[in-house]
Amino acid sequence: MIDLRSDTVTRPSRPMREFMLKADVGDDVFGEDPTVNTLQEKIATLLHKDAALFVTSGTQGNQVSLNVHTQPGDEVICDYHSHIFNYEAGAAGMLSGIQLHPLMGKYGHPSLEQISEALRPKDDHYPQTRLICLENTHNRAGGTIFPLAEIRRIAGWAQVYGLKMHLDGARLWNAAVVTGVDLAEYAQYFDSVSLCFSKGLGAPMGSIVAGSADFIRRAHYYRKAYGGGTRQVGIVAAACLYALDHNIERLREDHQNAKILAEALNKSAVFQVDMAAVQTNIIIAELKTRDRNAPVAVQMLKDNDILALPFSTTKIRFVTHMDVRREDIEQSIRIIKNIFG
Ligand SMILES: *Cc1c(COP(=O)(O)O)cnc(C)c1O
Repeated sequence: MIDLRSDTVTRPSRPMREFMLKADVGDDVFGEDPTVNTLQEKIATLLHKDAALFVTSGTQGNQVSLNVHTQPGDEVICDYHSHIFNYEAGAAGMLSGIQLHPLMGKYGHPSLEQISEALRPKDDHYPQTRLICLENTHNRAGGTIFPLAEIRRIAGWAQVYGLKMHLDGARLWNAAVVTGVDLAEYAQYFDSVSLCFSKGLGAPMGSIVAGSADFIRRAHYYRKAYGGGTRQVGIVAAACLYALDHNIERLREDHQNAKILAEALNKSAVFQVDMAAVQTNIIIAELKTRDRNAPVAVQMLKDNDILALPFSTTKIRFVTHMDVRREDIEQSIRIIKNIFG
């Protein structure tokens, strides 16, 4: 099987596991796990933030951040296709008592004009706009990169209106290797940033949020409330440290593989791909034909040893990652040609 469903399917490599085995550990709820502390300090330094907090998942990182920044009844501006609006089980309403205000951004990235129109008036009829949440890279839009100049404009405007900024940076690493903009340069525009180690970086689990000392102190409280206080979790943090040192630069290979596969899909008789959206490791392929729907095409791929994700009735998502090599991509292209022409 060539598994192109998601970059979350990667398995920890042998050297990563060996590194995990050697990790020093302690009780992290007491703040006594040295490996977790090293990871948190390393990320805080990388992002030029006061502090960072290890969390169990990207969802937990985003949701803890939303709760710190808001009061029940507040409103958060985000993109219509964002992870917090679509893929976090309605947690913003459930856990923070807030409402999301989704905007239809271009390639998943709302413009300052769209955002400023969504700002609520200071009037008791309305919820209070409190926070803007951006996603970089954008998952559902196909791994698209948020242009730094637009982030800067939005952040400048948000400051004038006293709004907080949160970055869902599950795949910020992918954006950074493409643009050469370092993580701190992106992070400076946000009050909080969440990052994932379990996507393209290949760790078995783990995410992190970074921000001011006060933000992290309060995030620690919500992490406990959400069941994310864990004990000798340094063995997992070690995998994340290993991933930081070994698996970031190689994301370029995933991006090259995605371009090669996307071009081949685009040339096939049944798929079309918006090549402008293929900026990192995600491909959204749309079916040209009406007679075959996406789940059927996904099943045909599966019958031929390729796994992909149906994204709608007409769209299929393919994601490249460290456990698919160039040969697997070339093999996939041959198979796709055989099946679909
Ligand atoms: C994967 C992902 C997350 C976090 O997902 P978890 O499965 O909770 O770790 C958050 N944001 C984006 C954009 C993602 O792709």
